[in-house]
Amino acid sequence: MTSQNERGEDREDRNDGEDGLRRFARIWSRTIYPATQTSLSRAELEEFLHPLAVRLGEALHAHPFTPSAGREVGRALVDEAHCTSPDALPHVLGVVESYLVLYAAGLAPAAGAPGALGVDEIRSRCARLQHALAAGFAFAVRERTLGEQEALSRAALAAQTAVEEALHASETRFRAVFKDATIGIGIADMSGRLRDANGALARMFGRSEEEMRRRNLNDWVHPDDAPEVWRLHRELARGRRDHFRVEKPYQRPDGTMLWTNLTVSLLRDAEGEPRYQLALMEDVTERRLLHLRLRYEATHDELTGLPNRTLFAERLERVLSTGGGVRGFGLCYLDIDGFKAVNDSLGHAVGDQLLIAVAERLQSCTTAPAHLVARIGGDEFAVLMSDPRDTEEVTCLARSLLAALATPISVEGRELSVRASIGIVEGASGRLEPAEVLRSADITMYRAKDAGGNRYALADPDSDARAIDRHSLTNHLPGALERDEFFLEYQPLIRMSDGQVDGAEALVRWKHPVHGRLGPDRFIPLAEHTGLIVPLGRWVLEQAVSHACTWAGGQPLRVNVNLSPRQLHHPDLVPDTIAVLESAGVAPSSLCLEVTESALISADEDELKPLWQLAELGVDIALDDFGTGYSNLANLRRLPATTLKLDRSFTQGLQRHPADPVDLTFVEGIVSLAHALGLAVTVEGVETESQADQLRQLGCDTAQGWYYARPAPPGEFARDWARAG
Ligand code: C2E
Ligand code: CA
Ligand code: CA
Repeated sequence: MTSQNERGEDREDRNDGEDGLRRFARIWSRTIYPATQTSLSRAELEEFLHPLAVRLGEALHAHPFTPSAGREVGRALVDEAHCTSPDALPHVLGVVESYLVLYAAGLAPAAGAPGALGVDEIRSRCARLQHALAAGFAFAVRERTLGEQEALSRAALAAQTAVEEALHASETRFRAVFKDATIGIGIADMSGRLRDANGALARMFGRSEEEMRRRNLNDWVHPDDAPEVWRLHRELARGRRDHFRVEKPYQRPDGTMLWTNLTVSLLRDAEGEPRYQLALMEDVTERRLLHLRLRYEATHDELTGLPNRTLFAERLERVLSTGGGVRGFGLCYLDIDGFKAVNDSLGHAVGDQLLIAVAERLQSCTTAPAHLVARIGGDEFAVLMSDPRDTEEVTCLARSLLAALATPISVEGRELSVRASIGIVEGASGRLEPAEVLRSADITMYRAKDAGGNRYALADPDSDARAIDRHSLTNHLPGALERDEFFLEYQPLIRMSDGQVDGAEALVRWKHPVHGRLGPDRFIPLAEHTGLIVPLGRWVLEQAVSHACTWAGGQPLRVNVNLSPRQLHHPDLVPDTIAVLESAGVAPSSLCLEVTESALISADEDELKPLWQLAELGVDIALDDFGTGYSNLANLRRLPATTLKLDRSFTQGLQRHPADPVDLTFVEGIVSLAHALGLAVTVEGVETESQADQLRQLGCDTAQGWYYARPAPPGEFARDWARAG
């Protein structure tokens, strides 16, 4: 049922699309009909154009996209519809630009459906189709012209011979071709004086045929002439070359430019002596302008007018290749800090204005032609330097970019201050691939952002490697919880008074499919950064509580679970924790939450509230890694902690024999202070017997460390320790 229905709708959509394309073909035929030399009627031309319209429409929405349909359509217009006038192409492209997207919309999947394309993507595809169409058109016209030229050369030569032999018929035949040809033809003697010019040539130059006949080819020097034009011409004039072909500009009497495809052939007499030069000219001015316009559009950002990612990529490739004549490069890759917030809070119109202003400021920082300022996309910009003198010149530019943005930008009456982060990559050409440079620039830019933004950072291979590593872990982290790749290990906490187990700390690990077993130091900071720590932390809590239930018969051992700062600030911390304890049927006093000292120092009363609530329920709170932060000891009173976990770094000094006196004094002081405040003391990192003895003598309550046991999987832990409780 459903599938039939779906198919039915599908067909309707297509019909919509085809109706639209029929309308498109009609508009198209009306627009170009006057400019074609076709023998078709207008209605027949429309019939001819309809399948071409369908081809373009389908290509626009095809997966994967290729612009080749544009090329074929361009060729078909010339070859089959005889649409050869230089005026026709701009009309064709104009229609495609204005109507194709509109009328082919029926062929597109519904917005939001799989495969539906964004407006930008559609626009860019349409531009590429136009490009291909122009190329196909130009190619076909060129082929046709070459064919025409071939025929003309033969006729001209025959005619010249005929003059001498007074063969009138041949002369007449030549005249006919000469007069009616669509391309410009001029015949000059060997001194360059034009003896004859046809109507098409005269029209191209905006002169009469009579005026044309007084000109000399050698006067038509133009400043934009390709360097080889006049050399080729001299060779031909001396009889050393029989023809050449170039693209050549001319100045018309009204001051405008005429661009031509020029073919000059040498006509020899019966003895083989050079007699005449035959110039065939095809007017390509429109095509050239169009090409320039399309190329400009394809390589520039519409909003800011800056070169876009495409042009930037071309330049980067050239600068990095050894053949480009450039020795080195410098790249400042810039991303605006907090641009999303501007867009979200003030709207896209303001965001756009801001981007335009940023583009202007950046552009104002460099006028050197060897520097390219481009908008890479969104709020990302790049400045590419060729051959900077040294690193200092690149960092100097980065500083001036930041400085240029520092003055507030006024948009719609608001003063917006712009901060940005810049990643700098520089080096010699011929060493790095563009993709490597871009990746490095991106990583470095993020390093600048992570360090607080509004600054630049310089790329270095070590931090790149670390970032790539981090990046790949971060990417795989979200799925890891679903794929069940985390597991817990437990390390016993030993009561120092009698050496019995008092509880266990749950420590999470990640069984990574590629990197193998990863310790929490590798991924907890990433999980914290991405927010995954909240679901992960909840999972650890559930696991730990349910494992604890299975230990020591009816009376569960106390289990310690680490809590990250981000979890601390999560509104569901209290209800989640209560729910986990209740569903496992575990008393709150069987749970101890470990929170680092540093996470608590900066917390205000409100932020401490959830911890207080949990403490009031009977959950123990331990201050983890104590001694590594710089808390005011008097502050300990306002924290809901029941235990201090003294950081491993302070007990290391006690491993030596005799123990480090400074550490001894410190631990002694902490223990007595903690006890005075009613707090128990746990020591971490106990690795030797003498260390354990010392700590016991100093009055520590509980200990944890390799001397007693390494962290172990739950089964092993239960076997070795849980029964002992
Ligand atoms: P921590 O809370 O200080 O955990 C104690 C760390 O010391 C553990 O490292 C443990 O394996 C290690 N350790 C235990 N005894 C000794 C010893 O005698 N000598 C030495 N050198 N090390 C010892 P681990 O498992 O790599 O955990 C590192 C940190 O990761 C933990 O430090 C904790 O801050 C964090 N972490 C672990 N699991 C979780 C978790 O589930 N949630 C959160 N938020 N953080 C966790
Ligand atoms: Ca801990
Ligand atoms: Ca610790």
